[in-house]
Amino acid sequence: MEVVKPVKRNVLLNPGPATTSDAVKYAQVIPDICPREQEFVDIMTGVRADLVKVVHGDPEKYTAVIFTGSGTIVQDVLVNSLVPEGKKMCVVNNGAYAARMVEIAGYYNIDCVDIQSSATGLPDLDAVKKTIEKDKDIAVVAAVHHETGTGVLNPVREIGQIAHDNDCIFIVDTISTYGLRPIDIEKENIDFVMSSAQKGLAGMTGASWTVGNIKAIEASENYPARSYYCNLFMQYDFFNRAGEMHFTPPVQTIYALAQALKEYFEEGEQNRWERLQKCWKAIHRGLEEIGLNSVIDKDIQGKLVVTVEAPDDGNFNFATLHDYCYERGFTIYPGKMFGLKTFRLCNLGLITHRDIEDFFVTAKEAFIKMGYSLPLK
Ligand SMILES: *Cc1c(COP(=O)(O)O)cnc(C)c1O
Repeated sequence: MEVVKPVKRNVLLNPGPATTSDAVKYAQVIPDICPREQEFVDIMTGVRADLVKVVHGDPEKYTAVIFTGSGTIVQDVLVNSLVPEGKKMCVVNNGAYAARMVEIAGYYNIDCVDIQSSATGLPDLDAVKKTIEKDKDIAVVAAVHHETGTGVLNPVREIGQIAHDNDCIFIVDTISTYGLRPIDIEKENIDFVMSSAQKGLAGMTGASWTVGNIKAIEASENYPARSYYCNLFMQYDFFNRAGEMHFTPPVQTIYALAQALKEYFEEGEQNRWERLQKCWKAIHRGLEEIGLNSVIDKDIQGKLVVTVEAPDDGNFNFATLHDYCYERGFTIYPGKMFGLKTFRLCNLGLITHRDIEDFFVTAKEAFIKMGYSLPLK
């Protein structure tokens, strides 16, 4: 891809969309095309195969089903499509994104067992096991791999084992780990992962997908169709028959996604993960230098989001910090925790530890501007 003119580069430290390459941005600039043309179907087919490959899925067992929308649409699709009539789902809930799946179940009047635990820690696996063993009506177990709201990484392999031991389907919101942390869908005991183009793959907003177990999708054909637009089997079936989405796809976003996948495989799973871990370490180094603490124990962090405890005094103002950094090309994000003053630094996109180091030079200036002397006491 020949890049015409460099686009101003912003370092996004918010929880998605992420910093993208210019080649991904320019991949959207294409001659107008009707997505029902074979040329586009071929691109879609290649993208779907690559999406399965990212999580090492066996193409005989797993397939990618893409929808037009942000990441939440896949949560909606999986929750409303995979629970048989009269059965329940169960959500291992230790954060905002798990809570969203509970809420979605409520909107569809699906019975949902909500296993809540603290947002700052890991779920109690014994409690999860007891709940699922006891309630034979649970057919679907859901969890979030990496709670983007806090940065906690959940033990999905263990939860998946419990789900499978009890003949349940296991769906996992991997929206903030897919394409970032290495994932092997089968080894992790996962039946359905989720992702969205603007997160780990550093593509453009507008396409989201599940990579899911074909047998489980086919079994869902006769489950209640609770949504017209967001039905998993309908979309899968259309892909099978026509090679494309049931309704108009986000055409330009798909071209960008194809380019983002190309860059993913060029960099390589392991190289990407090492680059991102260096970013995460640089975040912790920078925080230490300022004298700030992370809220979540380092040992249980997914190494992709750090929730920072903001100074609890009159000087700190998130807007001042944000605006000072934003004007200099760095975007930071407010926290998502009740009762605590926090903000978040996320390392999801096409960034390096040097970007993080540059960010901290700017952040330190902002702290001094707010009236602090560094390091903080
Ligand atoms: C980003 C994200 C989502 C989806 O959010 P959208 O705003 O709909 O894209 C869902 N789950 C997790 C864990 C996320 O990080």
